[in-house]
Amino acid sequence: MGTARLTIDLNALAENWRALDAMTEAETAAVVKADGYGLGVAPVGQALARAGARSFFVAIAEEGAALRRALGPGPVICVFSGHMPGDTELLRDHDLVPMLNSIDQMLRHAEALPDQSFGIQLDSGMNRLGMEPAEWSALRDLALRLEPELIMSHLACADEPGHPMNARQLKCFREMTDGLGIPLSLASTGGILLGPEYHFDLCRPGVGLYGGMPFAEAQPVVALDVPVIQVRDVEPGETVGYGNTWFATRPSRIATISAGYADGILRGTSGGLAAHADGRRCEVVGRVSMDLITVDVTDLGYDPEHLRLLGEKQRIDDWANAADTIGYEILTSLGARYSRDYRA
Ligand SMILES: *Cc1c(COP(=O)(O)O)cnc(C)c1O
Repeated sequence: MGTARLTIDLNALAENWRALDAMTEAETAAVVKADGYGLGVAPVGQALARAGARSFFVAIAEEGAALRRALGPGPVICVFSGHMPGDTELLRDHDLVPMLNSIDQMLRHAEALPDQSFGIQLDSGMNRLGMEPAEWSALRDLALRLEPELIMSHLACADEPGHPMNARQLKCFREMTDGLGIPLSLASTGGILLGPEYHFDLCRPGVGLYGGMPFAEAQPVVALDVPVIQVRDVEPGETVGYGNTWFATRPSRIATISAGYADGILRGTSGGLAAHADGRRCEVVGRVSMDLITVDVTDLGYDPEHLRLLGEKQRIDDWANAADTIGYEILTSLGARYSRDYRA
């Protein structure tokens, strides 16, 4: 079989949730937007619910509907994009809690679903989503009469503990919410690590659950094993792959494996990536192409049947560093062509 296998360790996912939960007195929710950071919202959501998560966050109402189908009634499902035009039925039928971002959304919601729970998203400085301080002070009395379930904001620099933006946003969020008596939420994964003053009543980790930075103690959740299609000898001076970017400097054994940039292995990682056979490191050589990658297996002394591209020895953030991006993008780029194997 030429299909690469992506193994998703639902136990590690649950362990990561528990480890983050143990760092805070607040409720620990789970962010499962973008199909559970690319790992599959149904199995991921179910595993997190079994671990103890009672509240979930998604980006858009359609994702909330898919999660509700997977979880059934009970868990709270919040939608970051709020109440968009055309969302009313989805929000109602799947019992979703929109995080209202503007006065327009609040009026839309009050008119269309006056009896349905909602939350409010405030902008404390990131300037991406949520009501700004001036808008909020104008709207606050009306909003409070409608009894929001949760008031939240989001940190722009939570993965940099020393960044002055964190304290600025904390202060701004406090000024907007002091004394309201409504549950508050500010922290994502990075915010949990910043310490208890950032935790308020509910934390919303995402990437840390999936084994990504900035949660350095996270267990890896994904492993990727790629079948070897062919192995060949390459003489010194011969080149490998598109653009002749690599040439052998010694008699080499080169394995061609069945995955490429069409599977989310960004072409920009060429050169910075390794593969592992039985825990031993083999360098990726030449360019990553659409469906194929070439690996120097000379030092193994045997021809492997599979090579591991993701796992304990090379994690999503190692890939991310090689491609000059972040673990989040690696996760959400993982290809649709992999066969997915969920371990629980
Ligand atoms: C994605 C997101 C989160 C989760 O952030 P991580 O860094 O993945 O933990 C929390 N809150 C909001 C508003 C988000 O968009």
